Amino acid sequence: MIHKYEQNGSYIVLDICSGGVHVVDKLVYDLLDYAKPPFADKCPDEIISKMADYDSEEVAECYLELKELYDAKMLFTDDDYAQYAAMAMKAPIKAMCLHVSHDCNLRCKYCFAQTGDFGGSRMLMDVETGKKAMDFLIQHSADRVNLEVDFFGGEPLMAWDTVVETVKYARSIEKQHNKNFRFTITTNGILLDDEKIDYINKEMSNCVLSLDGRKCINDNIRPTPNGSGSYDIIVPKFKKLVDGRGDKDYYVRGTFTKYNLDFADDVLHINELGFEQLSVEPVVTDPEMPYAITKDDLPTIFAEYDRLEKIMEEQKVKGERKFNFFHFMIDLNQGPCAVKRLRGCGCGNEYVAVTPEGDIYPCHQFVGIEEWKMGSIYTGEVNQQIKDYFAGIHIYSKEECGTCWARFYCSGGCNANSFIYEGDVKKPHKLSCEMQKKRIECAIALAAAEKSE
Ligand code: SF4
Ligand code: SF4
Ligand code: SF4
Repeated sequence: MIHKYEQNGSYIVLDICSGGVHVVDKLVYDLLDYAKPPFADKCPDEIISKMADYDSEEVAECYLELKELYDAKMLFTDDDYAQYAAMAMKAPIKAMCLHVSHDCNLRCKYCFAQTGDFGGSRMLMDVETGKKAMDFLIQHSADRVNLEVDFFGGEPLMAWDTVVETVKYARSIEKQHNKNFRFTITTNGILLDDEKIDYINKEMSNCVLSLDGRKCINDNIRPTPNGSGSYDIIVPKFKKLVDGRGDKDYYVRGTFTKYNLDFADDVLHINELGFEQLSVEPVVTDPEMPYAITKDDLPTIFAEYDRLEKIMEEQKVKGERKFNFFHFMIDLNQGPCAVKRLRGCGCGNEYVAVTPEGDIYPCHQFVGIEEWKMGSIYTGEVNQQIKDYFAGIHIYSKEECGTCWARFYCSGGCNANSFIYEGDVKKPHKLSCEMQKKRIECAIALAAAEKSE
């Protein structure tokens, strides 16, 4: 199976199952409408006549070249990955999203967490719960050595003592359990100060800094509780943090909505501020919301992704690559790696979210949805039925994903969005799929252009 498309003037053919990418000319691109396995030893007359706009000898030659690629298992490769899906997918828990705060000092209009409280009462996690969560993670991680903890909210800096004490505790016990903790924090930046910046740069392997781009865009959608903008407060702090980060990872993460369908300008703006690692992602929300992205917006969004891809390609050609756009990053040499690519984020199986009360959910987006509550770190029990359910979710257990050309790059999309907006974890969120597929097309085109440099 192949997927072919035109991207900013290039004709690209993806061999879905081998991950092979071929940049071809228009003749080959058109020929692939007709040339398919089983290949004959000579180009059939019927195909030559369908390709009447081209020189028949050239068509016949290209046909045989395609046959060679097919014989070499570089084109129309069979999908033999389903066999891996049948393998036991159960895994110990190795990553945790620790909701140290169900409160927030911003009032973002699109907040999936109801501006921080996740539909409950505003509260912070106490230190004991943070420590208990580390014990729980160690106990449920079997022989996994590397464990990941993301301090999350609401706004995690509001529970700073819990962050610091939890890290201290985890570090104090990791060696005796033969574990290695890797910490991340996701922050809106409002409460950053020199002390917190130094601490984050020392202790957090990665940090995610939330900013939506241009001041007018950010301030409209990410106001403080009194309605004023957050941009001027956070940008200088983010700059200071990133300046002191050394070679540790970070990325500036933005969200675009119907209000900024020209989001490539926000990407460029964030880069102009000096940030090189960034992502700006589409809002996923109730379609009735005024800022919601709808089907009608897709052509504009696709054109914007094309524009961004072109800008990045041009920068690369000039040797001036200025930033990495998270959603356009694909390693073509890696190819589809079986198990990893079959099941995506691992939510509810290898990854869980823990609330300030110590309740366990499959991930942050499921928090507060009672039917998906998986247990409590205080009892130590995990609902095995829910864990097994998520362990069994992979691209072949989702009907639409099993035949989707993007499946090995998308890995089946976001389970939470599927449940919240389509009513079924196994039903892909259609609007997100369309945008995901477009991003993957851009990413492949960009990677192919870079490879050919
Ligand atoms: S900073 Fe995050 S948690 Fe706070 S209101 Fe904005 S989106 Fe919600
Ligand atoms: S794009 Fe949609 S259908 Fe395709 S693999 Fe991803 S979630 Fe599944
Ligand atoms: S289900 Fe969606 S929101 Fe939850 S961890 Fe997976 S990708 Fe993220």
